Amino acid sequence: MAKSNPHFQKLKREYIFPIIERKLLEMRENHPGADIVNVGVGDVALPLAQSVAKAIALAAEEMTDPSRIRGYGPSEGYPFLRKAIAENEYKDLAIDWEEIFISDGINTDIANITELFHSSSRVAIPDPTYPVYLDSNLIAGRKVLLLPCLEKTRCLPTPPQEKVDVIYLCSPSNPTGVAMNKDELKAFVDYALDNQAVILYDNAYSAFITGPDVPRSIYEIPGAKNVAIEFRSFSKSAGFTGLRCGYTVISKELLIGHGRKKVPLWNLWSKRQSIKSNGVSYPIQCGAVSCYTEEGKEETEKQIKTYLASAKAFREGLAAMGFTCYGGTDSPYVWWKVPSSYSSWSFFDVLLKECQLVAIPGRGFGEHGEGFIRLSAFTPINKVHTALERIKKLQLN
Ligand code: PLP
Repeated sequence: MAKSNPHFQKLKREYIFPIIERKLLEMRENHPGADIVNVGVGDVALPLAQSVAKAIALAAEEMTDPSRIRGYGPSEGYPFLRKAIAENEYKDLAIDWEEIFISDGINTDIANITELFHSSSRVAIPDPTYPVYLDSNLIAGRKVLLLPCLEKTRCLPTPPQEKVDVIYLCSPSNPTGVAMNKDELKAFVDYALDNQAVILYDNAYSAFITGPDVPRSIYEIPGAKNVAIEFRSFSKSAGFTGLRCGYTVISKELLIGHGRKKVPLWNLWSKRQSIKSNGVSYPIQCGAVSCYTEEGKEETEKQIKTYLASAKAFREGLAAMGFTCYGGTDSPYVWWKVPSSYSSWSFFDVLLKECQLVAIPGRGFGEHGEGFIRLSAFTPINKVHTALERIKKLQLN
């Protein structure tokens, strides 16, 4: 009889979204007229930019031309998009376009990258974390070390005391909304250089960075090309969550042990992609490249500003009421510390019952997310104001 992968049994964390759905359903059944506002969504709230939609439609139209038939594209992405990313995102960082691999969003890349590492690799993951890092490594049967993100370290992880082989970092962080500054990131790059470890740097929210001391890319840190892979996505920078396009950057200078030799990780990923991927659709890649036109930049930057305005309103509104919050300046997420007499879930219940607000309990992102709520700036500003007015009226213990 076929046997299942036993490591699936290690997936013990609480899957919060079905629980939230259930609680929401109960609320709707008990209070059919309630005006429930969702302030926790991790998905975009604005319509697709016109320039992107036009580029996709044009590309699809082009494919109807008998003289311009397109079938499978290159598994690593079309050179036109890879070159545009190199030119627009990595101009001063000497990243070659061949070091950029296009994918259908980075969630899959972040999970699939585990295939490049030996099964005995020790992996460090922040806690709280974006869940795919943990789950994909548990399924692969790897040993995982959790790096607590504590308030005394700005809700960010610090380099491990012990030796690990692979380290996941997410900056700006989902869920805490905090972005690492140059010194904080350098500490990890130095650790990786000293320990011959590899950093898997999830930079999905790079477009939200505003802080002058926050690196836009890990490759701004000296030595990072030798130790870091960077993942970026068009999902949140240009509203591609429903279109699917992202990219993984692997410098040819990044080597890992392979028996007695060292091999470039670039070669392994290139091989893996050519075996397992048939590429991303041509129209979607045309849509992605349109984000670098004048019109595309203008439209997508305007969307980011809109989201950041919602984050600012949450942050400042809650601070004015005496709450402690982190994040929200370089990220669409605000990490709201709940009053000490509540847990993440009990405060979730209060927000839902008393304010008709749905937010995300921090506990769902790991043990060290306990005591926090994640708010999302993918909430229209009028709804942010509604939410703040309701929270102001709360009678808390
Ligand atoms: N990484 C982080 C931190 C995210 O928050 C998300 C999506 O919410 C992803 C990766 C997934 O991005 P994509 O849509 O490109 O798969």
